[in-house]
Parts: sequence; C-alpha cells; structure tokens
Amino acid sequence: MTGVPRILLNNGVEIPQLGFGVYQVPPEGTAEAVRTAFEVGYRHIDTAQMYGNEAGVGQAVAESGLDRDEVFITSKLNNGNHARDRALASIEESLAALRTDHVDLFLIHWPLPDVGDYVETWHVLEEIYRAGKARAIGVSNFQPHHLRRLLAASEVVPAVNQVEVHPYLVNQEVREFDAEYGIVTEAWSPIAQGKVLDDPVIVAIARRLGRTPAQVTLRWAIQRGDVVFPKSVTRARVEENFRLFDFELTADDVAAISALDRHERTGPDPDTFNYVPS
Ligand code: NAD
Repeated sequence: MTGVPRILLNNGVEIPQLGFGVYQVPPEGTAEAVRTAFEVGYRHIDTAQMYGNEAGVGQAVAESGLDRDEVFITSKLNNGNHARDRALASIEESLAALRTDHVDLFLIHWPLPDVGDYVETWHVLEEIYRAGKARAIGVSNFQPHHLRRLLAASEVVPAVNQVEVHPYLVNQEVREFDAEYGIVTEAWSPIAQGKVLDDPVIVAIARRLGRTPAQVTLRWAIQRGDVVFPKSVTRARVEENFRLFDFELTADDVAAISALDRHERTGPDPDTFNYVPS
C-alpha cells in the first residue's frame, strides 16, 4: 500500500494522484530510475513518445514483479505523429516498448494549433480508446479554446488535461475550465524544475512545518486536487517527493502559495508552440 490517494477519472478509471515523471531521464538510465521509484512506492509513471525512454519504463515494469494492473502508465502522442496512420502506428510502437497491450492513459502531447487539426487527431485517440489500447485518453497543453473546439466535435470527453502548473504559473483559468467539464488537471513541472524552491514564502512555510520546500509545493498541488509526477533521479529526492501524505497545509498556506502566481512559464506557450521533429 502506498497511501497515495486515487482520483476517479470521468470514465471510471482511477489514477494515483502522485506519480513519477521521466522527462529528461536519459533512455539508458530510465529503467534504473523507475525501479527506484517502484521501490519507494510510486505506482504511476508519466512518460511520452517524445522522451525516447518508453523502453526503459517497460523494462522496469517487466522486471518489477508487479502485476500490470498495479501500475498506472501514461504515454503521449509525439508531435510528428498527429496524422491518423502515424498515430495508429505509433501507439503500437509505444505498447511494444512498454511491453504491454494497453496504456492506462494516452494523451495528445501538444495541440500544435498551426499544424494539422488536433480535433481530427483526437478522433484517432477515440479509436485507440475504443480498441482497448488505452484505458483512458486525454490531452496535454490544451487551452480552454482548444478544448471548446474539441468538445463540440467529439464523443469522448478527455479524462485529463496535463498542463504546466506550479506556484509561479497557477494556471487557474485552465484548471477551472477543466473542472467545469469533468476533466482532471495534471500539473506538469510541479516544482517549476526547482525554480520555486528558494521562494521565501514557500521556505517559511516549509520551516514552520518541518518539511522541505519541494514537499510543501507538491502538497499545495495535491490539496488543490491536481495530479502530479515530480521528476528526480536522486533517490533521496524521489523519497522526499513521495512523503506528502502525513502533513497538511492550512487554507492560508494554500492561498499564500497561490498568490505567488507570476504567469511565468518554464516551458513553451501552447498557443504558439508548433514544433514537429523532422
Ligand atoms: P519538475 O518540476 O518535476 O522538476 C524536476 C527537477 O527538479 C529535477 O530535474 C530536479 O533537478 C529537481 N528536483 C526534483 N525533486 C527535487 C527536490 N525534492 N528537491 C530539490 N530539487 C528537486 O519538472 P519536470 O521534470 O519538467 O516535470 C515533471 C514531469 O512532468 C516530467 O517528468 C514529465 O513527466 C511531465 N512534463 C510534461 C510536459 C508536457 O508537455 N506534458 C512538460 C514537462 C514535463
């Protein structure tokens, strides 16, 4: 038992609220990093075709001795794979690399507003879902206006929207839109890749509670109801980031951290990001 709460997605599938992200984990180090995460107690891994390390995740799952249904695996459609034939081929490649016949969650990684049409790509994800190759499907980096178009022209409501959220980019408008439509928000770069950890407000709360700034920041996301999957390849930090469920922030702490919003992104802006690998 990991003690990690599970959140019910809009199709009845449950997702562990805390997972382990493997963005920027080198392919050759991924199996080891995920093995460590499993040892610590994580049961939810967030990878992507773009990260080039699905095979390492698959190896760690296969070698873990865990039953497949004890592990929640998310992957994401790469930017060059939006066309139907590419999307259908790429999910097979992902499943082979992950050594499984289904992922638990499959996302469109970026909307790429000026490349193709993400609504058509969503219809391909609906096919993948109906074929049982993903237990749930969702999107990533979608703004409310992208979601409005998608919802008007689709049958399946995305189960999640994975967007950048941390104390310097609270992203409230997107979170409220998601909540209104029954879409769970997943907060990527939840500690802003470390940038928020010296913030005096966060440091002061951490000192008062006898916790670390990373734990306080992740706990803030948890108490707001978002799903998080911090990344680290350092065992002590992997352990630290897992110890979030034996303390609580007050409502004032949550409000003080939310007030740090600077609308400051660490990653690309979804409205202008159209990068497709050649
Ligand atoms: P993060 O906010 O999780 O920060 C990770 C970095 O912070 C690490 O490299 C490490 O240097 C440091 N760190 C981690 N734990 C720490 C601790 N306890 N104390 C001090 N420093 C610590 O950033 P991230 O990796 O960009 O995001 C997490 C996950 O979100 C990714 O691994 C990936 O799964 C997902 N993600 C998704 C998208 C997307 O477009 N959908 C984009 C970026 C990230």
